[in-house]
Amino acid sequence: MKELGISALDDLIDQFSQLPGIGRKTAQRLALFILKSSPEYANDLANAIINIKQNTRLCKRCFNVAEEEFCSICSDHNRDVHKICVVEDIVDVMAIEETRSYRGLYHVLGGVISPLSGVSADQLRIKELVERIQNENIEEVLLALNPSTEGEATIIYITRLLKNFNIRLTRLASGVPMGSHLEYLDVATIGKAIQSRQDL
Ligand SMILES: [Zn+2]
Repeated sequence: MKELGISALDDLIDQFSQLPGIGRKTAQRLALFILKSSPEYANDLANAIINIKQNTRLCKRCFNVAEEEFCSICSDHNRDVHKICVVEDIVDVMAIEETRSYRGLYHVLGGVISPLSGVSADQLRIKELVERIQNENIEEVLLALNPSTEGEATIIYITRLLKNFNIRLTRLASGVPMGSHLEYLDVATIGKAIQSRQDL
């Protein structure tokens, strides 16, 4: 598709093409879809984008997305407050919540240790995790990191750090294929990996 030199259209194509997984062609298709859509739809989309930036923040306790000081999971009195499930990212909270097989709290690390990408342990929320274990009455920490070399290195690092605390330390059962991401696995596979989690 040839670009037409219309700056409003080119701007939108540029913006869309920065989204993850969106190539130039898809960006053009999306921009043309907006061009042809009703003014109401275009307004609602623009408002939804502004809204998510203005009205969300990170939970003060677990770093999940939140509308208030604490996220909806931390504020839910029916959750088991003695368990923490450690995940890389908010998308993993969503994937695990979908399984409905976990009723504890979370801790979002914000990534994994990756020397190649220049991510070291002190750039992740590991210190905050240790503080929670010191201050909250935690009985189990489930390390639900994506199965990758970096995920493994992070599990080893955190295990070493937490081994002197009187808590049960577990990881997802093997069976989650190496290199896969929780967000792309089906609900049943994640549910099974949580139920048959292994002690570290
Ligand atoms: Zn929270």
